Amino acid sequence: MKRIGVIGAGVMGTGVAQNLAAVGLESVLVDVDDATLERARQQIQRGARMSRLLSPAGANGARSPEPNLDLIHYTTDYTELGDVDFVVENITEKWDLKSAIYPRLDAICAPGVVFAANTSAISITRLASLTTRPERVLGMHFMNPVPMKPAVEVIRGWHTSDETVRTAQELLARMGKEGIVVADAPGFVSNRVLMLTVNEAVYLVQDGVAPAADVDRVFKSCFGHPMGPLETADLIGLDTILHSVEVLYESFNDSKYRPCPLLRKMVDAGLYGRKSGQGFYTYS
Ligand code: NAD
Repeated sequence: MKRIGVIGAGVMGTGVAQNLAAVGLESVLVDVDDATLERARQQIQRGARMSRLLSPAGANGARSPEPNLDLIHYTTDYTELGDVDFVVENITEKWDLKSAIYPRLDAICAPGVVFAANTSAISITRLASLTTRPERVLGMHFMNPVPMKPAVEVIRGWHTSDETVRTAQELLARMGKEGIVVADAPGFVSNRVLMLTVNEAVYLVQDGVAPAADVDRVFKSCFGHPMGPLETADLIGLDTILHSVEVLYESFNDSKYRPCPLLRKMVDAGLYGRKSGQGFYTYS
C-alpha cells in the first residue's frame, strides 16, 4: 500500500491524511470545494506542529522530524482516485451524502481496492450494498484527534471478508494503531454508549440540573475521566453528535435514543463546538 484515498477533509479526514503523511504514506484528500481544502491544509499544518510538540523527545532531547506534508495531494476531482490502493471515507455523517459516494468510488477505483467507512453510527452493511464489492467494504471508526489515538474500532459488515479485515489491520499497524474488530450494529460498541451518554448530559443542562462545566466536573473529578461528556461533544462536533443520535434512533426505533431538543437547537444556531468556535464552551 502506497497511496490512500481520503474522502472528506473535515475534522477526521485531515487527521487521517496527517497520520498517513507521518508514516510516509501518500494520500489523495478529496472534498467538495477549494476553500474547504485550503482550510484543511492549514489544519493539517497546525496539527503536524502540535503532534510534534506533544510527542515525547528522544534520549538526546530531539523530537521526531516533521512529517512530509507534500505527501498529501488536495483535490476536488474524484477521478484522481483511479490509482489509489485503499480508501478511507470520512464525509459528513448523513446517509444521503455518504450513500451518494459509494457507487461513485466503486466505478472509479480498481476492483481490489478496499473501502473503509469512517462513520459514527451508519450501517457498514448498508453502505457496502451500494457497491459491487461488499466483501471489500468495512468500517474504520477512528478516534479524534486521529494522530494521537492508539486504537480504532474496525467494523465487519455482513459480507466483509477475512482478507479485507487483514488488509485494514495492516494499514492501521502502519499508522501505529491497533484495530479492535467488532460486528456491525448501529453505533458499534463505542457510540452506542458514548452518544447516549452525551445526549443525556445535554438533557441535564437543558433541565437545569447543572451547568455544562459542573456536569463535566463530575465525570473528571469523581470518575477520573480525562474529559467530561460535553467537552467531548464539543470536540466531536455537535452536528456529528446530533446526526449520530438520529441514526441510532432510526435504527433501533427506540425512544431512549431521541435527540435532546437543546442539542438540536444548538446545531440549528450553528453552535457546533470547537470547529465553529462555540458549543458548550467558547474557543478562540
Ligand atoms: P466534518 O463535518 O468535520 O467534515 C466532513 C467533511 O466532508 C466536510 O469537509 C465536507 O465538506 C465533506 N464532504 C461532504 N460531502 C462530501 C462529498 N460528497 N465528497 C467529499 N467531501 C464531502 O465531519 P467529521 O467530524 O470529520 O466526520 C466525518 C465522519 O467521521 C462522520 O461520518 C463522523 O460521524 C465520523 N467520525 C467523527 C468523529 C469526530 O470526533 N468528529 C469521530 C469518529 C468518526
